[in-house]
Amino acid sequence: MPVKPHSKDFSLLFTEAAKRRKSSPLKPLLKYMLADPTLVSLGAGLPHPDTFPFIALTATVAEAGKSPVDATAARHDVSIAARAPSATTEGLERFLQYGNGRGVPSYAQFALEHTERVHSPLYDDWDVVVSAGNTDAFVKALMLFCQGGDSLIVDEWTYPAIIETVGPMDINLVPVQMDEEGMVPAALDALYENWRTAESGPAPRMAYMIPTAQNPTGATMSLQRKQAIYKIAQKHGLIIIEDDPYYYLQFGAYRPASGTADLEERYGDLPGVTSLIPSLLSLDTDGRVIRLDSFSKILAPGLRCGWITAPKYMTDKIQFHNETSVQQPAGVSQAIVSKLINEHWGHEGWERHLVQIQREYAVRRDRFVDLCHKHLKGMVEFTVPSAGMFLWFRVLLSEEMQSRPGVMQEVFDSMIANHVLLVPGHLFSPLGATPDVLSKPFVRAAFSYASLSDFETAVSRLARALAPFTGKVPDSC
Ligand code: PMP
Ligand code: PLP
Repeated sequence: MPVKPHSKDFSLLFTEAAKRRKSSPLKPLLKYMLADPTLVSLGAGLPHPDTFPFIALTATVAEAGKSPVDATAARHDVSIAARAPSATTEGLERFLQYGNGRGVPSYAQFALEHTERVHSPLYDDWDVVVSAGNTDAFVKALMLFCQGGDSLIVDEWTYPAIIETVGPMDINLVPVQMDEEGMVPAALDALYENWRTAESGPAPRMAYMIPTAQNPTGATMSLQRKQAIYKIAQKHGLIIIEDDPYYYLQFGAYRPASGTADLEERYGDLPGVTSLIPSLLSLDTDGRVIRLDSFSKILAPGLRCGWITAPKYMTDKIQFHNETSVQQPAGVSQAIVSKLINEHWGHEGWERHLVQIQREYAVRRDRFVDLCHKHLKGMVEFTVPSAGMFLWFRVLLSEEMQSRPGVMQEVFDSMIANHVLLVPGHLFSPLGATPDVLSKPFVRAAFSYASLSDFETAVSRLARALAPFTGKVPDSC
């Protein structure tokens, strides 16, 4: 195997807080306990495991590749007993104990192996560190390179939690134009060409991107788009936060209802883990991509489990940050995830599970798009997403409505009056609720949560809600 180069050193760009951040003072002592099994520790104030009332933890799961509501799915018990470690997974008492901010080894090991297998980073000093999901991971990645007075590059429309995170930190959001593949490379480049340091503060050194099934637009970056963006990031010395919670929810082109009725055939080409669009991390030769992975959309959000991949000198700082905040994802969650994936499913079961999730979302996307074509003709425009859970509608307001002040608020009120909820576009604007943003005719629909049997009701209600604003007559339904 060719020798991989080292990442570039961006530590000079660390914020003052990141430069100062070091390990929580007692954590380094743990290494003595791990290194010497004969050592009697009167050091760390760990509670003795005999005080934990938990003897075993059992999670009952559906067989990999089947939905838990499928009556034909076999059920399996995944059990982790105290004081009974296996070859690959620690005993329960280990998961329930304090540890360092790197996570319990078997959980962290899965993240490491999986990242190697799927993304094969191109430099040799990459590492992973656990997170309590991408919300937690984002703020820790951000604080490595952004502090008050700095700027963060984001998409023209972006995930509201990011807007709310950086607002109180006095970090300036700089939106960049998007198209159906996400951020436009030429627009990112032009931003630097036009940047005037004196007026706007230091040029941004960090960009936040959601490359797959962007929230809210549903846009997925192609490999070519990622390559183009990466090149511009190199040109301007930009560090990228790759927030990719929908990475595994790629399901390809729209399969209309008129296509083959045989579901096995219709959904026989889902990407699994082997045919996904390569990530930004996998293109990263310099160590300038901080990738955030989350189990929220592929196991369950309440687990609060994820991991971060970046050069080790960055993941070390995030480990230290963990040690003064969440410490690590909850032990119960790490235990279930680790035992389930490492031991029970293995790589093969994990892949079958992901294909099943992809199929679940593909069926939803196809049905939702069928209904939009049926009921919303002439009322909305949208790009059919190839991943994720969102559809971004441009409402085709009639000429008369386009000039009406506050019309999008009226559209929202009309949806509520018709008993259907979508998210007003302005909530995703990094610029806030300016008059211009408020007048933009966008709304986001999530096809992830409603029951399939409620889809037609929802879309026909939406048609009724939009009719007076678009000058169209809804189909009776
Ligand atoms: N505060 C004090 C005073 C402590 O002694 C400890 C644990 N040693 C903590 C907080 C950490 O608590 P937790 O595990 O709930 O984060
Ligand atoms: N990032 C994006 C772009 C999201 O859409 C979401 C969930 O809605 C999150 C992060 C939150 O992820 P997590 O549950 O891993 O914190």
